[in-house]
Amino acid sequence: MALKLQLFILRKEAKMKDSDSKVIKVERITPVSRSREWKTLYFEHGRPGLERIGELKGLCKHCVLRETCALPKPAGGVWHCKDYKTLAKKSSLYENVIQQLEKAANIVHSDRDICQILAATMNEIIVHFPVKLDDGQVKVFTGYRVQHNNALGPYKGGLRFHPLVDIDEVRALATWMTWKSAITHIPFGGAKGGLQINPADYTSEEIEKITRRFTFALGNNIGPEYDIPAPDVNTNPQIMAWILDTYMTTVAPNERNRCLHVVTGKPIESGGSQGRNKATGQGIVFLIEKWANDNGFNLKGAKYMVQGFGNVGSWAARLMKKNGSKLIAVEDVSGAIHNSAGIDPDDLSDYVKNHGGVVLDYPKAQPIDKEAFFSAKADIFIPAALENQITAETARLLKVKLVAEGANGPTDPDGDKVLQNRGIDVIPDILCNSGGVIVSYFEWLQNKRSEFWEMDEVDRKLHKMIIDAYERVRETARKYKVDWRTAAQIVAISKLENVYHERGIFP
Ligand code: NAD
Repeated sequence: MALKLQLFILRKEAKMKDSDSKVIKVERITPVSRSREWKTLYFEHGRPGLERIGELKGLCKHCVLRETCALPKPAGGVWHCKDYKTLAKKSSLYENVIQQLEKAANIVHSDRDICQILAATMNEIIVHFPVKLDDGQVKVFTGYRVQHNNALGPYKGGLRFHPLVDIDEVRALATWMTWKSAITHIPFGGAKGGLQINPADYTSEEIEKITRRFTFALGNNIGPEYDIPAPDVNTNPQIMAWILDTYMTTVAPNERNRCLHVVTGKPIESGGSQGRNKATGQGIVFLIEKWANDNGFNLKGAKYMVQGFGNVGSWAARLMKKNGSKLIAVEDVSGAIHNSAGIDPDDLSDYVKNHGGVVLDYPKAQPIDKEAFFSAKADIFIPAALENQITAETARLLKVKLVAEGANGPTDPDGDKVLQNRGIDVIPDILCNSGGVIVSYFEWLQNKRSEFWEMDEVDRKLHKMIIDAYERVRETARKYKVDWRTAAQIVAISKLENVYHERGIFP
């Protein structure tokens, strides 16, 4: 839709809202990406919020983000919208992916035909399915599964439940999965999926129904030897168990016990692996230890800060503790907290579990704003939340020596330039958070072979695979005199290019 027309609709709708739901003014339009018909920033009751053009409905009287707000709904029903700045800045992730690919391909003069293949996703599945909610109302949901590439093995990648999930984001995340598998030498391709919902809006029973209907709608587009989902933002082992159970009921009875590996990240009793829950955080900490060792940096007493205190962030924070490092600041969807004397990550994890999954009001630290969080005096920053958090603006505030990217795509291209110019080391996402897919691979293997590995064995094998990948990236960075993100990309595309050359293009 042309921007002029968007503006017109926007003004018209804002006017309507003015009368019936007290939207006070339209602040600005942010056409964030080519694939989105974009976002509008409103102020309502003095609170900022976002809404999608053409989808203005059911507004909460406190927050126009009612339909898309990522924040948990607190008791009393008042909605937050503090992270509107983050949302407004969401740019096209897939464009970032293509930029990264082009940069690396130009350096190593990759075969343009192969680049053309790698720049496109193989399959994009969009499903719409109805679910009867607890109150009897029927709602139609939209789910995505993007399969980027399977040259190296079955498609593999997480499922995300989040209000900002869209096809652009899923394409980017699927492509990064292909690179991750290639760098770590795992026999998987890349895929990703998601549902555009705010899980906080639904009861656990409704989430189960939504998950099962989504799995049913995907049908044979997933499968243990074809495409294997795993947890990502707002999905967890319980959700994986529901996917497994639903998938099993759709196959012939004599096949049912041969498809345990249709998902990874399952609870241990349902075929999960020891160490999968902590795997991404564990991989990040192995890499930080290796970086410290390579750079003669003492982790004992070093200060670190973490953004996102979910699966990845909380495990990384807790596992850093054994090095004698000190967690001094944490930010999640509810806000940021700081304590220069140190925050005990185990204590904070217990608090978060008992307080709606968020760090808000943690009594042993002081609340700070976003700017103060990014400006905190620390040595290491572990972003483990969402994309595009390290922008040119926030990268300038950072005081750290190392950014260890736990999240996928936490740094946008402008932020990346600032980090490079300031000499801040970066362990890039496609290497740094690959511990998750490595242990998913171990889970898949154990299920196929009816084996069960002890934690020690999982940790030892994870350490070897992720450190080997680190060394491949480090040597490539030295060889081509490039930053580590580009080096990691070169490792991935070179491997895929070789495979395509060996096999040729059918027919
Ligand atoms: P999660 O749902 O367990 O946790 C997400 C965390 O991010 C929560 O603490 C949430 O409060 C916080 N958050 C959300 N929006 C935020 C915002 N605007 N500002 C600050 N914090 C915000 O998800 P997760 O599984 O820990 O995944 C986190 C990141 O790691 C994602 O980018 C995901 O793709 C990536 N990742 C996850 C895995 C895995 O195994 N789970 C593996 C590789 C990469």
